Amino acid sequence: MSVEKVLIVGGGFTGLTAGIALARRGVAVTLVERAKAWARVGHGLTIQGNALRVFKDLGVLDDIIARGFPEEDGVTLYFADGRTMSHLQTPRTGGDDLPPTIGVLRPDVHEVLVSKAESLGVEIRLGQELASFQDDGTAATSVLTDGTTETWDLIIIAEGIKSRTRAELGITEDRAPTGLGIWRAVTDRKPEMHGGIAFPASDDGGAYKVGYTPVSATQCYVFVLCRPQRVDNGLADHQEVRRLMENFHGEFDWIRESIDENTFMNFQQIEWIFVEGPWHRGRVLAIGEAVHAVPPLIAQGAALCLEDALLLAEHITEDGDLQTQLTAFHDRRLPRIRGVVDASLQLAHWEQNPGTPDADPGRVMAESLLALVAAP
Ligand SMILES: Cc1cc2nc3c(=O)[nH]c(=O)nc-3n(C[C@H](O)[C@H](O)[C@H](O)COP(=O)(O)OP(=O)(O)OC[C@H]3O[C@@H](n4cnc5c(N)ncnc54)[C@H](O)[C@@H]3O)c2cc1C
Repeated sequence: MSVEKVLIVGGGFTGLTAGIALARRGVAVTLVERAKAWARVGHGLTIQGNALRVFKDLGVLDDIIARGFPEEDGVTLYFADGRTMSHLQTPRTGGDDLPPTIGVLRPDVHEVLVSKAESLGVEIRLGQELASFQDDGTAATSVLTDGTTETWDLIIIAEGIKSRTRAELGITEDRAPTGLGIWRAVTDRKPEMHGGIAFPASDDGGAYKVGYTPVSATQCYVFVLCRPQRVDNGLADHQEVRRLMENFHGEFDWIRESIDENTFMNFQQIEWIFVEGPWHRGRVLAIGEAVHAVPPLIAQGAALCLEDALLLAEHITEDGDLQTQLTAFHDRRLPRIRGVVDASLQLAHWEQNPGTPDADPGRVMAESLLALVAAP
């Protein structure tokens, strides 16, 4: 193995997956996370087959499926008035033995990953950040915010899209707006509701589209894709979401009525980043959303992060030269990620420019997902 002792910075899906994958291969892993405690609330997530394939390798697939809602039937597309437009069958990007997608709450996935990491002996230090680092070619040295200094074979930066260390590594690309904003909420669902996306008849309410994904027998995750600025209209959050949904009918009437001041929800602008050049400098490497994040229009963001983490662990636990392995890892990841970035940015452009001649989102979504069926 070219690494025996590794520091991971960031305890999101990327950092935890890397920690589990490395610990399973015999590496001593320490993970630092800035948050003082794990969040116990959060939004829903569509987990696609290629992410489930990673969970299977980590040994957590059954736990995650048990907490979520496997969806075999794809997603129904609706006109705003509630009529069915078409049905989109999601490809089995993880192989025929796995569901095409599952819907699940983020904190549930997180809890499963934390518990697995702890059971494998990953040392998790909450409330700690990487203050600075040095690399002398034979080891990387970290200084944490508690003042401690330690040396490692590799420091993995899994800080997410807002990473500060990215720039300190000399990576010049930075996060940028996509022109889209999103409201997300977790609310009730009826058993017969199986996931749908509805498109507006005209651009009168400010919503580009609304959708929902079941995340359990009784709950669903709802999103409203919209302009990037939160409208300053004096409405409370739940009133604003209901306003944006008011022209969407059918199942969306019922969802809208279930949203009130007690519903967990928030608004955010959607940003993106794609670092084409090397992700490492010596013995410090960035992965996951620290180096690639896309608008969530084909729900592949987390899946690509999980693939990064697992493949990295496979590369660096082989015998050989670490620098060669890190370069090979980057070169292997780039084409696959570029395909998702290009497709997602194209879809984001079409969302903001309805009526674009030759726009064909269904084809772009299908082609980009089918390209992921091959193992990474
Ligand atoms: C609106 C929206 C919807 C999405 N929906 C989906 C979906 O349905 N399906 C899907 O697959 N993907 C989806 N994604 C993408 C997915 O959420 C991300 O790809 C994934 O969560 C990124 O994980 P990460 O671990 O790389 O980053 P993060 O989740 O951002 O984790 C980074 C962690 O590092 C910590 N940290 C940062 N800096 C430091 C530091 N210096 N020291 C210590 N800790 C630090 C942070 O506190 C955080 O816990 C969506 C994204 C958005 C924005």
